[in-house]
Amino acid sequence: MKPPVEQALKEIERVVGAEHLLTDAATLSRYSVNMLAAADILPAAVVRPASTAELQQVLKIANAAKTPVWTLSGGQNRGYGMACAATPGTLIIDLKRMNRILEVNVDLAYALVEPGVTFAQLYRYLRDNDIPLWMDVPSGSPEGSCLGNITERGAGYTPMGEKFLFSCGMEVVLADGQVLRTGTGTLPNSQTWQVFKWGYGPSLDGLFTQSNFGIVTKAGFWLMPRPPAYEPLAVTMDDPEAVYKAVEILRPLKLNMVIPNGACVTHVRKALGLTACWGEGKNILPRVGRRFDYPAETLKALKERYALGEWNFAGALYGLPETVRTYRGIVEDAFRSALPGCRFLSAEEQAASPYWRAREKAMRGEPQWEFDMSDWEGKAGALWISPVAPVTNEAVEQQIRIAEETYAKYGFHYAAELILGTGRDLHHIIWLLFDRSDAEERRRAELCEREMYDRYCEVGYLPYRTGLSTGDYLMRKLGPFRDICHDLKQLFDPNNILSPGKSGIDLANRS
Ligand code: ADP
Repeated sequence: MKPPVEQALKEIERVVGAEHLLTDAATLSRYSVNMLAAADILPAAVVRPASTAELQQVLKIANAAKTPVWTLSGGQNRGYGMACAATPGTLIIDLKRMNRILEVNVDLAYALVEPGVTFAQLYRYLRDNDIPLWMDVPSGSPEGSCLGNITERGAGYTPMGEKFLFSCGMEVVLADGQVLRTGTGTLPNSQTWQVFKWGYGPSLDGLFTQSNFGIVTKAGFWLMPRPPAYEPLAVTMDDPEAVYKAVEILRPLKLNMVIPNGACVTHVRKALGLTACWGEGKNILPRVGRRFDYPAETLKALKERYALGEWNFAGALYGLPETVRTYRGIVEDAFRSALPGCRFLSAEEQAASPYWRAREKAMRGEPQWEFDMSDWEGKAGALWISPVAPVTNEAVEQQIRIAEETYAKYGFHYAAELILGTGRDLHHIIWLLFDRSDAEERRRAELCEREMYDRYCEVGYLPYRTGLSTGDYLMRKLGPFRDICHDLKQLFDPNNILSPGKSGIDLANRS
């Protein structure tokens, strides 16, 4: 450890107390796993401030000593980097102790939380207090942070799935310790901080998402009144080409808000990967499902056993019972006329399959584990490659072709989910599963990921998010945008202490 860092750590210890500045080997190793790196990326220490005031002091010390820090809220970030910094020797700021649900406003349907508040915690709070509001959850882990998922612009499965769109008001600590509130929170006694997004003057919230210009310490977001009727829809399609028609069927249903939620069309390999996370699937699938390499006969048997087609649509209807009934008829007609071979599963069939049960929960905001699949024998590496597409069959065909060709070249198997957000765009979330204990396979995974970015960007599809190892690679494709991000970094954080390398923004590496 360099002397200024050592001195800064001593000062930081005085602020947070010795038990919240951790330097033991076991802790450091928990914060060091990078999916693609050959060696662990060990941090210098982990600090756990208890409040915004403590964090301000920590940053003032780190800034004066030019000590780099890396922010984590829930510390999950599965598929996009885990609880780890981009570079070794960083001071991890783990915000888990700042875990107060500051407000849930039942009348206006919003919440204001600190970074450590997890999906599981907020879900329990709403349930245990009998609050008739639903929240949005992403896939992945119930221990993920509600706020962290907003700063990463995550996508979920309820009508409020586009997390940043439905966020409202942030508190941010800047590198020099100053506190900034966005939106109408710029007035200290604002009465509209969580109800009106825009405030007065420039809207700054976006600057603090997928960036390293500040640390978000509070975030507001909207919740959804629990509807009188809720109906999950499960449609299986056996034809491998059905996905293209499904996209065309769904576009008007989404644009007209018949299906208002983050609805998904999921490939069978991904659905089975998820099935492996729950109940009986847990025991059966991990072995046969490694790298999604299912022999044809096994795949056929598993499809039958878990009520899955080659492609699987999950969406939901919300509202009054009569609205839901009418909308169900509209959706059934649309699917059946364009895809006569499709099948709507009954409520009993859905309840019997771990995959469909999990979809039913996700679309009404109940958090659950979806990641055990990528943990076989502690060796699995999992990455999401997530290009966005317009909701058209041509675009989806082009994107799937690129993925299949590239995966075949590197010896992987395509497994993906299309999440339809507003009806105009879809997130094509492609799972890359590999054995990270095998150096050759890990290297192949890295090359595969990069080539996917090359090919998608070449034809105009930008991923909505990347993992830690590829932030710089992707950012370098973005020309003047990259320069402006570095100008902003210079302005907000001239000493380059906040999460250097996040989204490829790093003043030490700007040329
Ligand atoms: P989650 O647990 O929700 O998956 P993490 O806490 O692992 O999320 O954070 C994921 C990434 O988001 C981090 O690597 C960091 O770059 C960014 N991040 C997390 N919390 C904050 C925050 N409070 N302010 C700014 N960026 C954050």
